[in-house]
Amino acid sequence: MDYDTYGSTAVELAIDLANADRDAGPDWAAAFLRAHDEWFEPGSDVDLSPAEADQAATTAGLVRAVAVATTQAEVIERLNALLALARPQPYATDHDGELHLHYARRAAPALEQLTTTVAMGLAQVVVQHGWQRLGVCSAEGCDDVYVDTSRNASRRYCSNTCASRSTVAAYRARRKV
Ligand SMILES: [Zn+2]
Ligand SMILES: [Zn+2]
Repeated sequence: MDYDTYGSTAVELAIDLANADRDAGPDWAAAFLRAHDEWFEPGSDVDLSPAEADQAATTAGLVRAVAVATTQAEVIERLNALLALARPQPYATDHDGELHLHYARRAAPALEQLTTTVAMGLAQVVVQHGWQRLGVCSAEGCDDVYVDTSRNASRRYCSNTCASRSTVAAYRARRKV
C-alpha cells in the first residue's frame, strides 16, 4: 500500500477535522484552519463566519459518520453526502518538489478548500484501500476516529498516547487478579 500520496495525507486532515474539539468555542473552526494552514493557499482568509463554521462542523460530522459506519451501504450514503459538499477542481502541482494533485481551485475560499480536500482525501482512501481502514479509538474514554495506514491493518487507537495508556491500564488490570 502506498500512502505517500496527497490523497492519503489529505485523509489525515479529514481525521483531524473529525476529531477537532468543536466545544472549544465559536472560533474552533478558524483555530483549526490556522493550525493546519499548510493545507491552504497562501493568503487564504481563514477567519470563518459563524455560518461557515457551522458548515465546517457539518463536514466534520460527516467524516466521523463515515469512519464509524459499520456497513458498506452506510459508508456509501455518508461518503456521498460529504462529496456532495465538495467543489473539486483539481490541478497538478510540484510546489513542494513532488508532483501531486490539489483538489480545490486555487482561489477558493478557505472553507471550500477545506471541504473539498477533506471529502476527496477521505473518498480516495475509502475507495482505494477500503472503509475498514477507518475506525474509532479502542481506548477507554476516547472516541476519536483514525485512519489505519499500517501495513497489516492492525491499528486500534487514535494516537500513541491512547495506545500506551491502554497498555498500562491492561497491565494494571492483569496485576489485580
Ligand atoms: Zn501540495
Ligand atoms: Zn484515542
